[in-house]
Amino acid sequence: MLIRLQKKLAAGEIEAILDLARELSLCPRFLDAEREYLELTGPGRPEHRSRFEDMASVRAVLDTGASRELHERIAGRPDTQVAVGSARFGNGAVSLIAGPCAIEDYDRTLEIARAVRERGALALRGGAFKPRTSPYSFQGTRSKGLEILERVRIETGLAIVTEVLDPRDIEAVGDAADMFQIGSRNMFNAPLLLEVGRTRKPVLLKRGFMATLREFVLAAEYILSAGNTQVVLCERGVRGFDSTTRNLLDVGGVAFLKRHTHLPVIVDPSHAAGRGDLVRPLARAGLAAGADGLIVEVHPNPSEVHSDGNQAISPLEFERLAQDARALVALDGRVLVVGEPLVTKGPA
Ligand code: PEP
Ligand code: MN
Repeated sequence: MLIRLQKKLAAGEIEAILDLARELSLCPRFLDAEREYLELTGPGRPEHRSRFEDMASVRAVLDTGASRELHERIAGRPDTQVAVGSARFGNGAVSLIAGPCAIEDYDRTLEIARAVRERGALALRGGAFKPRTSPYSFQGTRSKGLEILERVRIETGLAIVTEVLDPRDIEAVGDAADMFQIGSRNMFNAPLLLEVGRTRKPVLLKRGFMATLREFVLAAEYILSAGNTQVVLCERGVRGFDSTTRNLLDVGGVAFLKRHTHLPVIVDPSHAAGRGDLVRPLARAGLAAGADGLIVEVHPNPSEVHSDGNQAISPLEFERLAQDARALVALDGRVLVVGEPLVTKGPA
């Protein structure tokens, strides 16, 4: 590891840094006469970077060396691929997750699940617990929604991606979910991250809408540090200054994350756009930047829903988006994973 210290530190301050180095079994060596650049050699551990960054006398950790954090890419090692039912994310595989914003009733959910499955989705999204900005808005159908998801999973074979808001609900949500969704508003909720980290179920971690990329990967690090390696990052747009789109899709962030981490990265064009007509172009941009999948809100009749109706796209628009996805990922040698063809009823 290479660290840069503040200039003109007192002897006691330097001693405190050297003490920490020895405590961590690292061997310190100054690289310059001014004692500003300090090289630390020895067995690296993920926590070393943060331990030094937290010291006021340390200006920056310039190179983490062997003290790599768990989310960081290691040259020559394959990327992590996360399997959720028959969906695959990362290491060359791209899959689509689609469904309503919230789970409202069984018939509609089943209809949407069948429609998106026929058009290339391998997982159904939909919140039973909704993290609404206002406590007076529709909060989700909760346990009834979870029951609906379980029935639809049996009926369609789609994997289920659904949000968990509270550590106390992890068991109940886990019975219905093949993948936990941690929403944007909970990205900083360390106790919740640690709790899903203690399970071995895949986690879809959405970026906080005010989170830097460093904060985002450190949220993933909480889950990884608790032992769960099945983490998929989701860029869903950050807060910008212009309300024309709901959020600002950080396409550069997707490209950066694909270089920086071995974890799969997917894009949510629906919450980024906040309007149905921009979902398809944003989905294309995300895939072109290297995303390993998409999570998209789909509904045949957006005027009837209680949340995010204006950003839902129709099943037909989803079909076009899936066709785009197939073509775009083929450009860089990746594959869009699709399910078994549906058995269609009709004359033999
Ligand atoms: C959602 O997926 O419906 C949702 C609430 O997303 P986010 O947490 O990104 O706002
Ligand atoms: Mn939504």
